[in-house]
Amino acid sequence: MTAGSTRLILGNAVVVTVDEARTVHQPGFVAVEEGRLVAIGAGEPPAALRAGAEVIDVGGDILMPGMVNTHCHMAMSVFRGLGDDVADRLERYIFPLEKRFVGPEMVYLGSLHAALELLEGGVTTVADMYYFETEVARAADVAGLRGLMGQTVVDFAAPDAATPEEGLRRFQDLADRLAGHPRLRASIAPHAPYTTGRDLLDEIARRAEKDGVWVQIHLAEVEREIAWCRERYGMTPVRFMAETGLLNPRMIAAHAILVDDADLDLLREGGAAVSHNAGSNAKAGKGIAPVLGMLARGIRVGLGSDGAMSGNTLDLFAQLPQVAKLQKLAARDRTVMPATEVVALATIDGARALGLEREIGSLETGKKADLIRISRRAARMSPLHDVHSTIVYAALASDVRDVMIDGAWVLRDGIPTRFDRAAVIAEVEALAARMRASLGA
Ligand SMILES: [Zn+2]
Repeated sequence: MTAGSTRLILGNAVVVTVDEARTVHQPGFVAVEEGRLVAIGAGEPPAALRAGAEVIDVGGDILMPGMVNTHCHMAMSVFRGLGDDVADRLERYIFPLEKRFVGPEMVYLGSLHAALELLEGGVTTVADMYYFETEVARAADVAGLRGLMGQTVVDFAAPDAATPEEGLRRFQDLADRLAGHPRLRASIAPHAPYTTGRDLLDEIARRAEKDGVWVQIHLAEVEREIAWCRERYGMTPVRFMAETGLLNPRMIAAHAILVDDADLDLLREGGAAVSHNAGSNAKAGKGIAPVLGMLARGIRVGLGSDGAMSGNTLDLFAQLPQVAKLQKLAARDRTVMPATEVVALATIDGARALGLEREIGSLETGKKADLIRISRRAARMSPLHDVHSTIVYAALASDVRDVMIDGAWVLRDGIPTRFDRAAVIAEVEALAARMRASLGA
């Protein structure tokens, strides 16, 4: 069933609310009506709530808030596995590949493929940045995802814009198309300080300030970015962003690995959010972001997968154990970054990073019904001594059974409800074959 006047109750569940007290109802129930959560509680749903409602017994499965992926390049799913383990691959690999293959059709197909993977992995909200972002938004809309859609802008010829001005026009087109959309919001995504430059960042800052636009950027991610900022401006990338006026609560800084204490203080003072991409950062050997220092300062932090060419998978289950273990390793302390904290980072904290914490991110009465059902069928899902620990260290994306966004099922029994799963995969395989042929691989 979908949203409507009928009340739906999911009962006999382990309910992971991620509310302020991190309450778990075991067993418990969740009631949904007209796209919103109308009741959450322990034990059996009361008779008055059950009257006239459709009741589903989830058989002890886990219900939790849909996950929030705060940094993704959905369309790049078609490049998954290309250029792994290659040095300097952004300039030598990714940019040339993008020049050659990126067009509106490829972006739409890759993004729909990514949307499938996100839903299969329990992600209900995604922050994306790429070229032809109107096509990414079209795919996210078809799939039923919630998201912050970022049109990438760079200071050189891009796959979708000969000039930065054209990139900014594409953002405006995206913003016009998404105006009033119930789930999708437009954002400007300057690629990074060293690929955008001061003049363009100043122009973006002006527009963002005028219209209250959210900005996504790769920040303090790579050594040559640090060198570029130091040589040109004699400062760190974070301080450079502060100078442009972009370091404010509507900024999402992806990565923030190479940051010192002064940078962290600046991030806190500016109120910018950080998207932590543990797996992608580790795979590239870039370093372990000082997430504990960010959280200690009260900086908003969410989790991201990065694109499939960087992190290979787009779900957050693959990130959760890495988020915990890398921080524990860095601190040489098993008590830091406990499982409850990691689950919060993937849900309510991600929502906070995107400014959506009043609407989504936890299972609390009045919030939008964005939730996922995690099957406990696999042997590694029992026993359930500590459900947060099970989610972080044992669960896999493939355990996700059902996904609801805005009170509507967008994935049921692992199958998307709004588009043809098999057709998307077949088309991506066909495109990949043409790509390999063209690359001579
Ligand atoms: Zn990225």
